[in-house]
Amino acid sequence: MTDLSFRPEDITLPAGHFLSGKIVPGGKDIAVTSPGHGRILGYVPEAGPDLVNEAAQTAARVQRESGWATCAPRERARVLRRWADLVEQHGMELARLETVCSTRPIVQTVGWDIPFLAEGIRFFSEYCDKIGGDVAATSANLLGMTVYEPYGVTGAIAPWNFPLVMASWKIVPSLAAGNGTVLKPSEMTPFSAVRLAELAVEAGLPAGLFNVVQGTGLATGEVLCRHPNIGKLSFTGSTRTGIAVMKAAAESGPKPVTLELGGKSPQLVFDDISSVDEVADRIFRAFTGNAGQVCVTGSRLIVQRGVAKLLIKALVAKCSQVAAHAPWEAVASYSPIISEPQAHRILNLVESSVQAGAQTLAPCLRMNSEEGGIFLSPGILMVTDTYSPVWQEEVFGPVLAVQIFDEDDEAFALAEHPVYGLAAGVHTASMSRAMRAIRTLKAGTVWVNRYGRSSDFVIPTGGFGGSGIGKDLGRQAFETNLRLKSVLMAAE
Ligand code: NAD
Repeated sequence: MTDLSFRPEDITLPAGHFLSGKIVPGGKDIAVTSPGHGRILGYVPEAGPDLVNEAAQTAARVQRESGWATCAPRERARVLRRWADLVEQHGMELARLETVCSTRPIVQTVGWDIPFLAEGIRFFSEYCDKIGGDVAATSANLLGMTVYEPYGVTGAIAPWNFPLVMASWKIVPSLAAGNGTVLKPSEMTPFSAVRLAELAVEAGLPAGLFNVVQGTGLATGEVLCRHPNIGKLSFTGSTRTGIAVMKAAAESGPKPVTLELGGKSPQLVFDDISSVDEVADRIFRAFTGNAGQVCVTGSRLIVQRGVAKLLIKALVAKCSQVAAHAPWEAVASYSPIISEPQAHRILNLVESSVQAGAQTLAPCLRMNSEEGGIFLSPGILMVTDTYSPVWQEEVFGPVLAVQIFDEDDEAFALAEHPVYGLAAGVHTASMSRAMRAIRTLKAGTVWVNRYGRSSDFVIPTGGFGGSGIGKDLGRQAFETNLRLKSVLMAAE
């Protein structure tokens, strides 16, 4: 097997915006720091209103004039399939660009992020000619129809936790539906999106249809949200920013929004599970994957008394087994924390929870890696009320809050969160408990006897309440990039 390790200084960073098929400079420099060693890797320019305006207007013009929306839909599908092939051919290069400034270990970007990205592009390409509209039941002298058409240009704003995959869930269905699109990646992970856009043009996407603008939320993201050429917005990030995006969309449109926001997802474990070890494995992966920096992190464990002691013992034992290596080392499997401010925030939340009465079962502490990256060990806290900060707030770090229950009703009551409703996990051998959980839990996704998405792109994902509006993935994510026109025709 080839050694996947690489050195960050050997990577050429595409440090610019991507406009009309070219990497372009423009704007003051923002420093990009790698969480793998905590040092500055490079800089990206920040797009101001003029550059955002150029990106949106160009996408609108190219969408109108290139024939992308009006060609035979299978032509669009062919370009998208070629794009997926190019993503695979350039897989190692993309994986390194993704790993170098994000929290994603190279083994995982090579083994999952990039193949998943390529297959996701193929998945949405398959919808290009599948959804057109309906004929309505009218009197025979009329012809009534509903016809889908693209918005024109959509705006996409992505987070840093899975930079390419999260961005692709927005831009690919939008392009497949016939739109142009402007993407703003996170200012912390800006590079891989530019290479992805270059490959799209190489695959045959009209230059200027998909543009990338770099910058911070306030200087660039907000301007993009408010731009008059943006007909629809898709955002993934925190609930607080999602609210700002929706406000901007309302005030500059109104325009529709898809919001994929934060979570505080519960995992319910009942006494009847057949293997404590297997469930411990699942729960551990669900709160330590990407060091807990996953929207659907299973961060609240609600466990029945009969199995609690054994399960907690198994989880605590696993906490001491993780090792910190820079993400570009082939041995790395545990992720760093994206930034120093985020590490401070996590440690403060843990500290304030302990002060409020939480009991430490496994401590969340700084870990050392050879290269000096930002790492925190997985922590487990037992809480006895629902007011503890670690029970209430999205930590976005490797911290599990635990509560014990006796009766099923208690478990379902504990699972409810006043704000979030993104995902939930249920671990039980009882079909009737599982069925009750599916109906009762207020979450956009319920997993039974597993935790986490499969590679089935067809299952949509999205939250309830403060966790968001609308869906990524699935047919729904394609349809949301189309608007419905009603037509009624009479013979002259
Ligand atoms: P964030 O909200 O800080 O930033 C997300 C993006 O929004 C970034 O590109 C940022 O620059 C931009 N932004 C910030 N302020 C803006 C504004 N006023 N207008 C427009 N854009 C603005 O989130 P983050 O820290 O990058 O990501 C972590 C969060 O994302 C967590 O809360 C996590 O749960 C959530 N998330 C949700 C999902 C999901 O599918 N539900 C998936 C991944 C991450």
